[in-house]
Amino acid sequence: MREFNVVVLGAGGVGKSALTVRFTQDVFLENYDPTIEEEYRRLVKVDGITSQLEVLDTAGAEQFTALNEVYIKSGRGFVLVFSLTQEASLREVDNLRQQIYRIKGGSTTVPIVVVGTKSDLVNEREVQLTTISNLSQRWNLPFFETSAKKNWHVSDVFEDLVRQMRNRYPED
Ligand code: GDP
Ligand code: MG
Repeated sequence: MREFNVVVLGAGGVGKSALTVRFTQDVFLENYDPTIEEEYRRLVKVDGITSQLEVLDTAGAEQFTALNEVYIKSGRGFVLVFSLTQEASLREVDNLRQQIYRIKGGSTTVPIVVVGTKSDLVNEREVQLTTISNLSQRWNLPFFETSAKKNWHVSDVFEDLVRQMRNRYPED
């Protein structure tokens, strides 16, 4: 069975842990310790093929840390997380995206999905669909709107990433 390691990155408080824990444990944790960094595992079946995912939920407070660089070097797929309720959190996604391409080498394709979280908080929403579709085109990356609380589209994120990783790394 293929194994893929995935790194979840994004600004603090955007919902990285909630997304990771929803996907791997199928629960919603309201108050997850923001300093906890943990690796989770889950089997996923995509297009009839089962693979093992190792999902690293990062908790780095600062951008451009040496630690980020280590994660990016070792990661095969990336979930870049922002909150739909916090437009400023998109900037960190842009930073991380550029950092990943720089570290991985600009010309190679890197499996990445961009995730806007907390889609259930409709009244607090700051990021409009037009912003998302513009960035998705400019960056040439798939976007997903999720809610870890309601379990909306969480598995879609990881399925898309698995397909990208299978294409990018056909054999080990
Ligand atoms: P992290 O710092 O990126 O790991 O963020 P957390 O996963 O700890 O989430 C930060 C806060 O946002 C917590 O209070 C979560 O309960 C809340 N949160 C995360 N995801 C969702 C979601 O999908 N819906 C709602 N309503 N709250 C969420
Ligand atoms: Mg966290």
